[in-house]
Amino acid sequence: MNIDFEIFSPVHQIQDKLFDERGLKVFIKRDDLIHPIISGNKWRKLKYPLKEAQSQNKTHLVTFGGAYSNHLLATSAAAAKFGFRSTGFVRGEEVSNDTLFLCRLHGMNLIFTDRESYRYKRALFDKQFADDNKAFFIDEGGLSALGAKGCSELVEELTESYDHILCACGTGTTAAGIINGVAKHQLPTQFHGVPVLKNGEFLRKDIDAFLDQPSNYHLHTDYHFGGYGKVSDELISFVKQFVASTGILIEPVYTGKMLYALYDLAARNYFPPGSRILAIHTGGMWGLLGMKERFKS
Ligand SMILES: *Cc1c(COP(=O)(O)O)cnc(C)c1O
Repeated sequence: MNIDFEIFSPVHQIQDKLFDERGLKVFIKRDDLIHPIISGNKWRKLKYPLKEAQSQNKTHLVTFGGAYSNHLLATSAAAAKFGFRSTGFVRGEEVSNDTLFLCRLHGMNLIFTDRESYRYKRALFDKQFADDNKAFFIDEGGLSALGAKGCSELVEELTESYDHILCACGTGTTAAGIINGVAKHQLPTQFHGVPVLKNGEFLRKDIDAFLDQPSNYHLHTDYHFGGYGKVSDELISFVKQFVASTGILIEPVYTGKMLYALYDLAARNYFPPGSRILAIHTGGMWGLLGMKERFKS
């Protein structure tokens, strides 16, 4: 089986009075439309690891994530689509939620793992799958050089040029891929990562580790809203306002923070008038289901 499918990820303009006033043209690349479950950067990150698994005759994907992990969910669906078995180590005590329901529905076997053991992913894999020579290790969040390679293909799909590209960062794999793509095609585009974790400056070494050549890029580390999975009322209001005024569904854990940063930087005149800016919609909307309570008020 050929592990691939046609990518549908159009670029749409975002209209807003703020951008008109600042003389900015702002666009969003709809990676969220790539697949309803294997959405956004998660397919890009999985493509080459799955090809590698296939070339090694591995038939069982084993990966790791938190209870709301978009990566676990994407891996379960990609495994089902391309004929692999899948196992997910889930961080923490056993819980049930919508994400894990969907993982199971796609045939993923879930192993709940205490937080201490979870830190040693290779050891967990080696112990549990010592007798399974069909098992293939995929790191948490799809963190890998092969993942970055898949993400760099995003740049090849662009038909227009942009002065700035913004993307939310978790592991930084997607950021590294895009930076590599920009460098490879010698584009005059500046990359801006928005870490969704606290103290996001640590990402620089992780991103740099996957770069084909040393490159300059920006990390905007003040938009984490308290850390991974943390949100504020202001961020929730922003997400509501954005979805209701554009018809583009986003969630607050990743894309909400990145777009909040974009609007905030624009309002502070960070981008020179005349700039063309591309935001990457990295998908992950199922995460909204874990946040319904936060949207109530
Ligand atoms: C996983 C994820 C990210 C983070 O991607 P990294 O490559 O780990 O930095 C960003 N946005 C969404 C919606 C995600 O699910």
